[in-house]
Amino acid sequence: MKKELSLEEYLSGLKGKDLSILAKAITLVESKKEAHKKLASELIQAILPETGNAKRIGISGTPGVGKSTFLENFGMFLVDQGKRVAVLAVDPTSQVTGGSILGDKTRMAKLSSHADAFVRPTPNGPTLGGVAAKTREAMLLCDAFGFDYIFVETVGVGQSEISVSHIVDMFILLMQPGSGDELQGIKRGILEVSDLVIVNKSDGAHEATAKIAQHDFKKSLEVLQDKRKWQCPVVRCSSVFKKGFREVDDYIDDFFDQYDTNLRSAQIKVWLEELLKDKFQSALKNYSAFEETVTAVQKGKLQPIEAVESLYKGLLKND
Ligand code: GDP
Repeated sequence: MKKELSLEEYLSGLKGKDLSILAKAITLVESKKEAHKKLASELIQAILPETGNAKRIGISGTPGVGKSTFLENFGMFLVDQGKRVAVLAVDPTSQVTGGSILGDKTRMAKLSSHADAFVRPTPNGPTLGGVAAKTREAMLLCDAFGFDYIFVETVGVGQSEISVSHIVDMFILLMQPGSGDELQGIKRGILEVSDLVIVNKSDGAHEATAKIAQHDFKKSLEVLQDKRKWQCPVVRCSSVFKKGFREVDDYIDDFFDQYDTNLRSAQIKVWLEELLKDKFQSALKNYSAFEETVTAVQKGKLQPIEAVESLYKGLLKND
């Protein structure tokens, strides 16, 4: 049997910048075992004073847009300047398939083997809120460890991005040129929360269409974000040819120079509400009387309002 680490061993490993201890600490916070949960919460509590220094950045875009190529090469660009870079991934599809489809270590081979970088694939969880909660704790561990940049990569354009936008400071959306339907395809909600849009693959034959896409995004963002103080820039880059990285980095710096720390506390409130909703939803789904109550309503034996009252009372008693 493997020896379990103590709280002190985790703490001294993190302090000593031991990447293998960081990986174990993340496994601990992801664990569903009760004994692990207790130790994990003691660990998170103990490292909290060391957090708050990293730039926590969400990064999203549809599969194939170039997220891993971007993170690999932009990550190396940052590491070459003496920065420490962590990449965590949230992959909602793994909830369905039961495993990560990403294989991030192979997708980001150079970055993941660099001493100043850390790449970690998806935690699994029964709910998206649960997965994001684990990611948040993993992020806190990376923050305390001393990473300057923590990227949280999400796949699939939808609710996961909105959830992730509540646990990071900055949200980057990666797009690619050449698809006229793209603007309709992406959910407005994601553009609304984006702090930087990157039109990737702006190279070779794609360059002209990338310029058009950049222009179109700027126009849409002016409308969608007209009330925001920070106007979301749209930059073109080529992750393969490593073009546009300096500009991306400058915008990230500008964003953090202007970052309003009040946002963090507002964020925590939204986040807490989201977790609570999540908890209620899963409690309701697991509640034994749920299905039969729904059937009774469908058959007209019970009025919806009565059903809600009875489920609500039952749930409260159940807990
Ligand atoms: P992901 O699914 O979003 O992580 O996308 P990948 O990083 O795996 O990239 C998908 C494909 O797009 C790969 O074949 C990459 O080589 C290619 N790609 C990524 N970035 C660029 C880029 O800047 N320019 C070009 N021309 N191709 C790119």
